[in-house]
Amino acid sequence: MSLPIFLIGARGCGKTTVGEPLAQALGYAFRDTDHYLQHSTGQTVADIVAAEGWEGFRQRETEALFAVTAPETVIATGGGMVLAEANRRFMAERGHVIWLQASAHILAARLTHYPQSAQRPTLTGRPITEEMAEILDERASLYQQTAHHIIDAMQAPEQVVAQILDALSLARAS
Ligand code: ADP
Ligand code: MG
Repeated sequence: MSLPIFLIGARGCGKTTVGEPLAQALGYAFRDTDHYLQHSTGQTVADIVAAEGWEGFRQRETEALFAVTAPETVIATGGGMVLAEANRRFMAERGHVIWLQASAHILAARLTHYPQSAQRPTLTGRPITEEMAEILDERASLYQQTAHHIIDAMQAPEQVVAQILDALSLARAS
């Protein structure tokens, strides 16, 4: 089972937090498409959006996805990665796709409590819980249709990792 593992889900669901210990547990590499973008362009997500708009950012995000995908790699993807059909198909065909599912309320609480992880500009300029609810509304079906496994990401990170390992070993056995 050396296929890449793609973690998908809204900003704040724990892709980075869970991805690193998951990779460690499997002896895999860990990559993060947002980090890749920042290192390859020397710009933050906010800088790229300011300079090139969301459309330019989305294009670069797809390039980042292709660039970091490799066997034996856990890949944390940007929250909007599922918006493009090409990205959804690429992930679903190339690897195991895990949706880290969390409520808008939890996501908003995390992003408010840890503002350093909210380096991305808000999409609407409205209160964060409202915005997260709207984003989830818009994207939940995309996360769901792309994911091979849906994991409750509202538990402690160690439990989230354990559940992903469980789901993957079941997948391997079948
Ligand atoms: P993502 O990469 O999906 O945007 P992060 O991994 O950066 O999310 O997590 C966002 C914030 O939420 C971080 O400050 C992190 O510490 C916290 N967090 C992530 N997962 C959990 C969890 N399972 N339980 C509690 N806090 C979490
Ligand atoms: Mg992240």
